[in-house]
Amino acid sequence: MAVHFTQLTSRLWVTQSQLFATNSGVFLSGDEACLIDPGIAPETIEDIARFVAEQGATPRAIVLTHAHWDHVLGPEHFAGVPVITHADYLRVLREHGADLYRQIGVWEAQAHIRRPRPFLLPKPTYTFDTALTLTLGDIRLRVFHAPGHALDQCAVYHAEDATLWAADMLSDIEIPLVLSLNAYEATLAHLATLDIRALVPGHGAPTTDVGEIRRRLAADRAYLAELRERVTAALAAGHTLAETVAACNDMPLPCPCDDPTPHTWNVESAYAELGGCTEGAVGWEREWSA
Ligand SMILES: [Zn+2]
Repeated sequence: MAVHFTQLTSRLWVTQSQLFATNSGVFLSGDEACLIDPGIAPETIEDIARFVAEQGATPRAIVLTHAHWDHVLGPEHFAGVPVITHADYLRVLREHGADLYRQIGVWEAQAHIRRPRPFLLPKPTYTFDTALTLTLGDIRLRVFHAPGHALDQCAVYHAEDATLWAADMLSDIEIPLVLSLNAYEATLAHLATLDIRALVPGHGAPTTDVGEIRRRLAADRAYLAELRERVTAALAAGHTLAETVAACNDMPLPCPCDDPTPHTWNVESAYAELGGCTEGAVGWEREWSA
């Protein structure tokens, strides 16, 4: 088996894809498994299936944390296993399904992936609005809406082990990618109320270092607070979008980031969200039109 699994808690195993350091998880309890965002490349996904079988377990559910292309490729390898998403996942598919197919097509061509059948975006078996509790063997997983990076994003919390699967938040390698500043701030405020002793971001290093978990949460919240402050001040001064982007250029970022684009798009999205006048696709809306 090519993939390497790390046991992070008594119930959670994690493996990381090379592409974007994307994490996939397996919660195991007795002979039941719940998969979180299982894999990108077909061989990784097959390795995850083998790992679950080697533990003597059967996949009982797949949680897709959000409808971004690098999180939705797993379920076709697990026929009949229920897929759980937030209700807004269906809205993203309706509005951006064609974009997701295009993005996946581009990556599969680059990666020389030959598939035996055309890819179909997975449809959820169960959706929820606020939260859903998943009983797996003798444990309970709370899957809850955690919007901000994406409209439909959800996170997974295992209270007994104080474990948070944070989806695309609290990374050590990428700054917050902020589709909605209002929603992202509210989600981080909620996460700050949770007891978290094991953290898995969608991309980057999982950690069980409580100091590091607090540091990431504080750094991302401080970044969003400053983003709000600067964009609000720019709007009050009547600045244009370009002037606002320039005014935010020297903002400290919560982790090193060579590519200026994510921060620029965050500023643009915040400018539009907080009432600024824009034309055409700006900020993270550009992702779909790229
Ligand atoms: Zn994402």
